[in-house]
Amino acid sequence: MTRINRRILLASRPEGAVTPASFKLEQAPLDALAEGQFRVRNLYLSIDPYMRGRMNDAKSYAAPLALGEVMIGETAGDVVESKHRDFAVGDKVTGMFGWQDYGTSDGAGVRKIDDTRVPMTAYLGVAGMPGATAWYGLNKIIAPRPGQTVVVSAASGAVGSVVGQLAKLAGCRAVGIAGGEQKCRYVVDELGFDACVDYKAGNLHQDLKNATPDGVDGCFENVGGEALDATLSRMNPFGRIAVCGMIAGYDGQPVPIKQPSIILTMRLLVQGFIVTEHLDLWPEALGTLAALVLEKKLRYRDSVVDGLEHAPEALIGLLQGKNFGKQLVKIA
Ligand code: NDP
Repeated sequence: MTRINRRILLASRPEGAVTPASFKLEQAPLDALAEGQFRVRNLYLSIDPYMRGRMNDAKSYAAPLALGEVMIGETAGDVVESKHRDFAVGDKVTGMFGWQDYGTSDGAGVRKIDDTRVPMTAYLGVAGMPGATAWYGLNKIIAPRPGQTVVVSAASGAVGSVVGQLAKLAGCRAVGIAGGEQKCRYVVDELGFDACVDYKAGNLHQDLKNATPDGVDGCFENVGGEALDATLSRMNPFGRIAVCGMIAGYDGQPVPIKQPSIILTMRLLVQGFIVTEHLDLWPEALGTLAALVLEKKLRYRDSVVDGLEHAPEALIGLLQGKNFGKQLVKIA
């Protein structure tokens, strides 16, 4: 049986904000499998902020996508054909199969998942790469002690929501920064943070001051710009800043730090990190996170768009903060 594969390519590099013009949907028949290969029908596609960076032709920690290349992305799905001895039809997997209906693989980088107790979508979020990102930055860089205060920006999102919940489990005061009253209410009422500051309310510095009466010991930075400035001004001596993302600047906007001298005067540790450079720690991180999901100690929320053809809108929305929780596209 010849399968037809729909796929979304990078058609042009965006100047500033991403628009639908950067993407092209096409379809083509799939080649037969070679020995040692298997085929995955993608059910869910994860939409992540890093995709914006790969659309630029710029120096970064990873090579840019080429024009005409299938958009990069992690998916979760079912093995539907196999000529590989370790992957059987019916296996559930995650892998970097991109924005398309089907992925073909020799097994490199593919993870088998058990969706009987933890839902498949969680392996792309709380018990997947975003969860591992939260786990790494919090435990290996911020390393908070009980009673300390941790602030995280983009707090209702895939990474931020896990950071605050892990900080609470570690005995810390967890404070989020998020856009809008609804997201802030969710962060406090459903995720259990101690406080959440709505940066869109227009009083970020004073509101963050009120929410952090003992100052800030750990900053998990996802946004940059005003969020980072506000948190920097609350840092305690010897505080740690895990620089995870700078989403406020991904469309090319400048994200200057207004008072870098605080790094000196407060003797801060500032450490950027890329979670895929720490794959040796993923089994520990993902095992811990999946167990916490099962025990209902870690809550999460998915934001699902239906249909591969809507993946561009999902990415555009994510970069505008329209997602509420982990952004996914349901492909099949
Ligand atoms: P989220 O689910 O948090 O979604 C992104 C959120 O960022 C939006 O919902 C919005 O929340 C906020 N946002 C978007 N645009 C802006 C803007 N211009 N200014 C301020 N806030 C904005 O995404 P993830 O959890 O997947 O990613 C969070 C961060 O972590 C990103 O910076 C990402 O690049 C980074 N990351 C880094 C990794 C690493 O290895 N270093 C790995 C994975 C993620 P709101 O409405 O609250 O503003």
